Amino acid sequence: MKLVERWRSYLTEWWLRFRCPSEFLCDNCRYDHPSACPHGLRPNAVKCPDYRPN
Ligand code: SF4
Repeated sequence: MKLVERWRSYLTEWWLRFRCPSEFLCDNCRYDHPSACPHGLRPNAVKCPDYRPN
């Protein structure tokens, strides 16, 4: 993964947690689909190493 994309994901995750603490990351993640996401936290993840903004 490109460094720029990783930073974008990190900053978006941080921003969502800071500004919208009641929102789940999965609602705004490109992997929010049973066949695309390997995590059991979906759809209610608030912190995720694989989070990628849409
Ligand atoms: S990768 Fe993480 S943030 Fe994305 S849908 Fe799966 S659990 Fe949610």
